[in-house]
Amino acid sequence: MTETTRTYDVIVIGGGPVGENVAERARAAGLTAVIVERELLGGECSFWACDPSKALLRPVVARADASRIPGLDPAVAGPLDVEAVLAHRDRMSSYWKDEDQVDWLNSVSVDLVRGHGRLTGSKQVAVQTPEGDTIALTARHAVAISTGSRAALPPIPGLDTVRPWTSREATSADQVPGRLGVVGGGVVAVEMATAWQALGSQVTMLVREQGLLDRMEPFAGELVTDGLRAAGVDIRFDTTVTALARENGEVRMTLSDGGQLAADEILLATGRAPQTRDVGLETVGLTPGSWLTVDDTFRVTGVEGGWLYAVGDVNGRALMTHQGKYQARIAGAVIGARANGEPVDDAPWGAHAATADHAAVPQVVFTTPEVAAVGLTSREAEQSGRRIEVVDYDLAHVAGAHQYGADYRGWARMLVDTDRDTVVGVTFAGPGVGELVHSATIAVAGEVPLDRLWHAVPAFPTLGEVWLRLLETHRG
Ligand SMILES: Cc1cc2nc3c(=O)[nH]c(=O)nc-3n(C[C@H](O)[C@H](O)[C@H](O)COP(=O)(O)OP(=O)(O)OC[C@H]3O[C@@H](n4cnc5c(N)ncnc54)[C@H](O)[C@@H]3O)c2cc1C
Repeated sequence: MTETTRTYDVIVIGGGPVGENVAERARAAGLTAVIVERELLGGECSFWACDPSKALLRPVVARADASRIPGLDPAVAGPLDVEAVLAHRDRMSSYWKDEDQVDWLNSVSVDLVRGHGRLTGSKQVAVQTPEGDTIALTARHAVAISTGSRAALPPIPGLDTVRPWTSREATSADQVPGRLGVVGGGVVAVEMATAWQALGSQVTMLVREQGLLDRMEPFAGELVTDGLRAAGVDIRFDTTVTALARENGEVRMTLSDGGQLAADEILLATGRAPQTRDVGLETVGLTPGSWLTVDDTFRVTGVEGGWLYAVGDVNGRALMTHQGKYQARIAGAVIGARANGEPVDDAPWGAHAATADHAAVPQVVFTTPEVAAVGLTSREAEQSGRRIEVVDYDLAHVAGAHQYGADYRGWARMLVDTDRDTVVGVTFAGPGVGELVHSATIAVAGEVPLDRLWHAVPAFPTLGEVWLRLLETHRG
C-alpha cells in the first residue's frame, strides 16, 4: 500500500456526464483539473440510464409511429427482433467500457484518478484506488461533488430476498422476463414498462398514486396510461406492495388490497437517492446521505470558505443529464472566474447563475405517446400565486398531426403569465412531440413576449403548428 499526494486547482469527485463537464469547463478557464471516478467514466447516463434506455425505446417508438402510416403498417406488424434491439442497446452503451470517454478526457487535458473519493477536510480528498493504494489530493481552489444519484428502494418486508431490478438491471438485462412487475409510476417506470412490454414481457405496473407521471400535467399521464394499456400493460393504480418473497424462482408480491401477484422479475422504480453516504461529508460539517443544497452558482451552503460545489443529480435540483451539464458549464465557469479574480455575474440569467433550473427545465418522456414539457405545470403555477391563463389545444387538429399518422391523439397546454404576457410552461403529449420541446424551452427561457412569438411562423404541415393554434386560442 502506497500513499501519494497531488495538487490540482479543481478536484471533481464523480466522472458522470456532469463531473466531466465541470472539469472540462474549469480546464477551459485555464485551471488544472482531475476527476475521481470509482466505476466507469461517463456515469449512470452512459451505461445504465439515458443511453441504454433510449436505445431500447427507439425501436418501440419508431414501430408505433410506423404502424400509424398507411402502406407502412403491415411491414411493422410483427414482433420486435429482440436480439437485434438488445445488440443495439449494447452498442449504444459502448459495451460497458469507457475507453472513448477516457480518450476524450485526455484530449481536454483533464487527469483521471480511478477509485473511491472522499473528502477528508477543507479542499482535501483521499482516493482509495482499486489496488488498495491511497492518493491524497489537494485543491487550490475548489472541490466539486458530482457523485450523482442511485435508485431509492422502499422498505418492503422481504425485499432483500428477491434481488429486485433497479434502473440498472432494467437498462442492461440481456434476458426478457416472461412477467415483469414494475413498482412506480414515474418516468423510469413508464419508460421501462414501455420497453419491456414491447420486448415480450407481460408487464404489470403497481402504482401508489391515482395516475402515471403525477408531477406532470394530468393529461400527459392519461395519454401514456392509454398507450401502455393498448400495448397490453396491466396498470393498477392506488396499489402498493406490502411484502415480497422469491419462491421457486418467482417473485411473489403481496399487494395493499390483499391480492397476490407473481412475476419473474420485479423492477423498483420508486425514486432516487443522492450518492452522498460515503463521500466524507461529515469531515466538512455536512450530513452523509443528504442531498446537497447549493446556491445558484453551485456552492454548497453552510461550508466555510465557499470552496465546495455540488453539481448534477447530487444537488437534487433537476435530475436530468442535460440540466446537469448546464449546471456543469456554469459551475466550471464560475470556479474559473473566482480563481482568476474575474467578476462573477450571478444575477438572474447571468453567466454564473443557473436560473433555468428554476424556470425552464425541459424533459422528454420516451413513451408511446411521448411527453415533452418545460417550465411550470398548471398546478405549480397555481401554487406560485401568479396570474396564469391556461391555454389548451387538441394536437389532433393540427395539419401536421394528420400527416404524422392516422388516428393521431395528443394534447398541448401553454401557460401564459398574464402580467408579463410571456409563456411560463408548456406540455405536449402525443406521437413525435419530443422534438418540439426545444421550441418551448426557447419561449420560456427567453421570456419571449407573446406579441413577438406571433411572428415566429411554424412551417406547414408540421406538429410545430400547434404554436400558432395555441396563440390563436389565447388571442380568442
Ligand atoms: C433509467 C434512467 C433513464 C434516464 N434517462 C434520461 C434521459 O433520457 N435524459 C436525461 O437527461 N436524463 C436521464 N436520466 C437521468 C440521468 O441519468 C442523470 O440525471 C445523470 O446521469 C446525472 O449525471 P451525474 O453526472 O450527476 O451523475 P451520474 O451519472 O450518476 O454519475 C455519477 C458518477 O459518480 C461516480 N461516483 C459516485 N460516488 C463516487 C465516489 N465516492 N468516488 C468516485 N466516484 C464516485 C459514479 O460511479 C458515477 O460514475 C435517466 C435516469 C435513469 C435512472
